[in-house]
Amino acid sequence: MLYKLSPTSLSVLEDCPRCFWLHLNGKVSRPKGIFPSLPSGMDIVLKKHFDGYRAKGEVPPEIAHLDGFRLYSDAKKLEVWRNFHTGLSHMDSEGNQLRGCVDDLLEKDGKLVVLDFKTRGFPLNENSAGHYQSQLDIYNFLIRCEGFPTEDFAYLLFFHPIEVLAGDKPLEDRVIFKIDPVKMPTSVEHAQELFRKAIETLKGPLPEKSEKCEYCDYAAKVASSG
Ligand code: SF4
Repeated sequence: MLYKLSPTSLSVLEDCPRCFWLHLNGKVSRPKGIFPSLPSGMDIVLKKHFDGYRAKGEVPPEIAHLDGFRLYSDAKKLEVWRNFHTGLSHMDSEGNQLRGCVDDLLEKDGKLVVLDFKTRGFPLNENSAGHYQSQLDIYNFLIRCEGFPTEDFAYLLFFHPIEVLAGDKPLEDRVIFKIDPVKMPTSVEHAQELFRKAIETLKGPLPEKSEKCEYCDYAAKVASSG
């Protein structure tokens, strides 16, 4: 059996190898839950906003202070790498695939830097950026697999609402978002190791349940009582 993995599926591996194994081996699908649409909607308008500056050869004010980087200029290639159906991909020697798509890219001195938009409801805390470490490592790895040099860091651009300005203008002109750029070190070695570990896990026996999760015990109790 050959596998197609993504940053999202590998985050399940990091969360619980058992859940990852069950889902990818087609035994039990993970409940989908309710996915908030605001971050996806923000991603779309932010990409368009940044594309407007890219077309003019300018740097958006939101990133003007980021170490002199400019937006990646190859809009056609970026469109491919952004698209869920094409995207970035790497195949191992057996044919297993690791796939992903970026929001945007920066460039300077011939090197690329991943830029990922994150919309949230609240200010950052000490765990906010670290949650995306593996995702950034994987994007960086995939871009190198495409043959492009990258820096050993990436940027997260966080957006969260902070206030509604007083005044007579329509409400949509007065909702203010705070923007927090966070520079994150990245490791392509970590991405490679995660991919290797994922395939090894999927080909092995059903892993033990995660110690952090209480649902397996709960489900076993319910099953045995019924
Ligand atoms: S431990 Fe939790 S996350 Fe893992 S398989 Fe059981 S229910 Fe799923």
